[in-house]
Amino acid sequence: MIHKEDVLAWINALQKIYNDNKEYLTDLDSAIGDADHGINMDRGFTTAKAELAKNPPQDISAALKTVGMALIRTVGGASGPLYGTFFLRASDTCIGKIDLQVSDLVALFEAGLAGIVQRGKAQLGDKTIVDALTPAINAMKQSLQGEADFKQILQQGVAAAKKGMEGTLPMQAKKGRASYLGERSIGHQDPGATSAYLLLKTAFDVWGKG
Ligand code: ADP
Ligand code: MG
Repeated sequence: MIHKEDVLAWINALQKIYNDNKEYLTDLDSAIGDADHGINMDRGFTTAKAELAKNPPQDISAALKTVGMALIRTVGGASGPLYGTFFLRASDTCIGKIDLQVSDLVALFEAGLAGIVQRGKAQLGDKTIVDALTPAINAMKQSLQGEADFKQILQQGVAAAKKGMEGTLPMQAKKGRASYLGERSIGHQDPGATSAYLLLKTAFDVWGKG
């Protein structure tokens, strides 16, 4: 099981990973956007971490809600409201809970992705966050049927997210700022798909080792 402390450890690890990858994500965004994706993710998670330290959450739902609100409030770019919605929807799946079974975790991610799709209206192949998260969540749902544990499920999810992220390189962007470039968006890996891969990779690194 994953406990509230593990969820807080994931959020703190995300703050570190987005800080470590601030330049990398911003470089990716400089090729097809406005060179701020790393700055946005770093700002959002730094705020989220600080707010959680200031107001310790009662349960997992409250922790995720604090993250969602912080992202929406402090990140100006498209990614703030989208990831913010991901965390708010995820929060709705675990009200009052202080631990999660593996099926709860997959349901949490699935609800988060549904929120991103509903808010951003991106389809598979549009070169966005959705291209990393959708195959990842499908892979996790699939391995759930085989009674896999956290480690196995997250491993499958990360592998699919990585493939999805790499698969954005030849795509032409159809949503967000990169879509203004038309065909010139082809040949670059999408920054949002990359931050989405890092989200799951960090979950695996924190929860999947045991
Ligand atoms: P902005 O584009 O406003 O500068 P960011 O640079 O932080 O915001 O985020 C850019 C990323 O947001 C893109 O790489 C893409 O993955 C993601 N994105 C943009 N629009 C959408 C959308 N409608 N649905 C899903 N993801 C999107
Ligand atoms: Mg940008």
